[in-house]
Amino acid sequence: MSNRGGKPSHCFNEFVHIKKDVKINQSNYLAVCRGCITVKGWTWAETEARKINMSNTVPSIGKHLSVCENFKTTYPDKVEHVKENVEARKQRTAELRTANNLKKQYQRSERTVYLIYYSYFYIFIFYIFIYLFFITMVLNITFDLL
Ligand SMILES: [Zn+2]
Repeated sequence: MSNRGGKPSHCFNEFVHIKKDVKINQSNYLAVCRGCITVKGWTWAETEARKINMSNTVPSIGKHLSVCENFKTTYPDKVEHVKENVEARKQRTAELRTANNLKKQYQRSERTVYLIYYSYFYIFIFYIFIYLFFITMVLNITFDLL
């Protein structure tokens, strides 16, 4: 799901320049917005990218592109494309989260069922002991009477 290893193959790749010599974290490089480069120049764009820690991942780039005025100026016909991609990704993340929550809920209910079975088992054992205890008592009394 996630874009690891700095693979330059995602949908926002054409809108950024990846700086392979600057690492944002272990597996991602600095991504500089091409809109910012076109409007404000390299230095400004790179400073901005460093300030917001923009990495070459779809969420990171999408976050910048959806608010970047320079991007809107440079690629006016791509604004919708970016918006759609960001929305689609958000939805996918939400769906994944729902699926995970359902799975967790299911696991929790499964655990509850096991707990109930275990308690029935212990109650059963407890009754057997009580029963044996009374049987022994009754037998003792009978033997005493004899
Ligand atoms: Zn930008």
